[in-house]
Amino acid sequence: MSQPDYLQPFADCLTQSSQWLSAQAEAGEKHIGYFCTYTPVELIHACGFVPIRVMGEPGVVEQAYSLVPDFICPFMKCALEKALNGGFKYLKGVVQGYTCDVSCGMANIWKENIPGELYHTFPLPYTDAPATRDYLHKEFQAFIHKAEQAGGEFRLERLQSSLDMYAAIRRSLLSLYQFGEDGAPALNARERHIVVQAGYVAPPDLFLGMLEALASQKPFNSRESQAGIPVLISGSLVESVGVFDAMEKAGARIVADDLCSGYRNLLPVDGSGSGPMERLIDRYVNRFPCPSRCRAENRFPLLMDRIEQTGARGVIFLIQKFCTPHLADIPELTRLLKAAGIPVLVVEMDESWRMGGQLQTRLEGFVEMIDGMYGTNHGKI
Ligand code: SF4
Repeated sequence: MSQPDYLQPFADCLTQSSQWLSAQAEAGEKHIGYFCTYTPVELIHACGFVPIRVMGEPGVVEQAYSLVPDFICPFMKCALEKALNGGFKYLKGVVQGYTCDVSCGMANIWKENIPGELYHTFPLPYTDAPATRDYLHKEFQAFIHKAEQAGGEFRLERLQSSLDMYAAIRRSLLSLYQFGEDGAPALNARERHIVVQAGYVAPPDLFLGMLEALASQKPFNSRESQAGIPVLISGSLVESVGVFDAMEKAGARIVADDLCSGYRNLLPVDGSGSGPMERLIDRYVNRFPCPSRCRAENRFPLLMDRIEQTGARGVIFLIQKFCTPHLADIPELTRLLKAAGIPVLVVEMDESWRMGGQLQTRLEGFVEMIDGMYGTNHGKI
């Protein structure tokens, strides 16, 4: 699908990133991959590496099955398939936060099978306490030592500027959501997804410049994005914009998300503390929670806040098949949301990310049900 002009740089970034990241790597740039947004990218950057989020490519998985069973999430399977096919040669390794068991195990599988110089997994705390912060401080110091052995060079003042840069990026991305929330014209979910995903594969300084250029164009013009039944989608990564198209075709309007490829990564925008390291730690112990770090009953009020802030009338759980942390939360979240009068639909995607006719019918039925509940004319909420 062709893009509006203001989106083209972001769409190009997604389609061409492999080529130019490879060219940059040949010119001496050191890229480090990460799976999950619980990875302290600011610290990796302050050590002299460029953090690039590893994403799979929807499609057929073959080679990866020699190393993993088929009952793990499509994201990890597709990413491993791409790595085994040489698709991540521009990476010097993988640094990962320990979120779910699959991502932690996968970092070790990559270490054994994909050539690289720096592999590391950060243990992540579940709680915020002085001892937690001390522990994380020691872990971050241990990483710095390891990164320097792998050719990196850490400087505290560079951490300060990395923190500033990533905070500016998050603030700018957040404004893309907030335009819509204020009732002002906004990018629709498909457009926002393209912008946010580009940030995972572009070096942060380049991406910040792209966001500034986007903001200066004030392209927020889509009146049609105001039509449709407002819904919130919740899950892990969305790896195909076709999902958004299918939801909109069914009559939904995605006004909010709780996705690790979306809003969840933006809060808090920054941490606070007496120095850069304390600021970094503060942000990571206060992350907007993913189900691998937080109980369903504690996520529920946060989801309700988002629903109230954005006027969402239903929740679609968009889950990668076999994603245990997300699937485990669904029964309790469904119970609590339904008790609060919020209808719920659960959609599971496999590695093809194909939206078949049956799924389209389920989406349409869900939207019609909400429409009926509120006695509205379709799209006039
Ligand atoms: S949280 Fe789910 S989607 Fe994310 S890596 Fe773990 S199993 Fe896969």
